[in-house]
Amino acid sequence: MSSSRKSAAFCLLVSTALLSAGHTYEIGSAFSYPCHESLTRRSFDASSAPGESLFKETAIPLPLDNSWSAVLESMGKKVGASYEDEVNRFIAFSLILGARFPDVGHNSVFDANSMHELHSHPGAQSSHCLRRDDDNWAAGQERALERCFGVIQSGVERAVAEYRRPREEQLVKMRTFVDFYGQIDVYVWSPAFELGKTLHTVQDSFSHTVRSDDLRRIRHVMNALEFGPLNQPNRDGLIHSLEMDECDDGAASIAEVAVDAGADFLRYASMALAGDDTNAFEPFFETWMSYEPGCGVDNDFCGSKWAELARTDPTTTIINCSASLPAPSHRPGRRWIDAVILSLWFLLS
Ligand SMILES: [Zn+2]
Repeated sequence: MSSSRKSAAFCLLVSTALLSAGHTYEIGSAFSYPCHESLTRRSFDASSAPGESLFKETAIPLPLDNSWSAVLESMGKKVGASYEDEVNRFIAFSLILGARFPDVGHNSVFDANSMHELHSHPGAQSSHCLRRDDDNWAAGQERALERCFGVIQSGVERAVAEYRRPREEQLVKMRTFVDFYGQIDVYVWSPAFELGKTLHTVQDSFSHTVRSDDLRRIRHVMNALEFGPLNQPNRDGLIHSLEMDECDDGAASIAEVAVDAGADFLRYASMALAGDDTNAFEPFFETWMSYEPGCGVDNDFCGSKWAELARTDPTTTIINCSASLPAPSHRPGRRWIDAVILSLWFLLS
């Protein structure tokens, strides 16, 4: 391989590694930590008493084709989805695959073009509880939040609609990407898959906002489209923080609470499924998604103790390699190390 091709490949790989982690809690791959996956599994476990299942009243169909089981196995121990009960395992898998979907769709996290399409479109921002580029000032922030809440509400409604389908039709084939293998079609339980997709947005509402000290109220919504020197935080929103996406590091205590909120989300969602009543879901919004106006950049988000963290390691250029690569932050972040390992792997192979 020529040196110019190698440097282009290096540039692409570094960009891709950064992109894969650029807009959200990290998604698992051979080179990244399975953040959304482990948060989802932990929320599912916390949503019911040990030995019980959240959907125990539900007759959940199991597919004859158990490729899903091998895919779950491939996600590794970091996800921690080990269940003796096969139905619980299948529910967990369906939730986890759903939680991955807003970030990766049917693709590899290292597919730069697909990742760019998925993450850079203004219409995609609400699934990650982020602002669009026209969500300016306080009014724009409130619009962004309304859309984020709308994604959660409509996700529950989709899960209820799936649940109302005949039992055998609730098994749906979903295309997913397995590292070093490629795309594969696997069965999911569609109500749980829809809930997993929605759980992703709930999780991102913790990593992409600045909240009150107790993490119950949202004070500010961040922006992953408008970064760099032209960003005006008062107008555009604070630039998305890579540090906030750490579920086992700097923002681990936020991730812990996101797990609790996720467990609550699943409990209320299961009531909505059982009772066919999406209004059963209202207490979830009251507990975890209330908006506290009047808290902005100028007053440090009403003195939120998360303000400094939210300003740490802002997203920089991730696609355009003509721009300089981001400088390492105060400590060598795992994403930076991932990018170097990935590039070495590519250059040596
Ligand atoms: Zn996301």
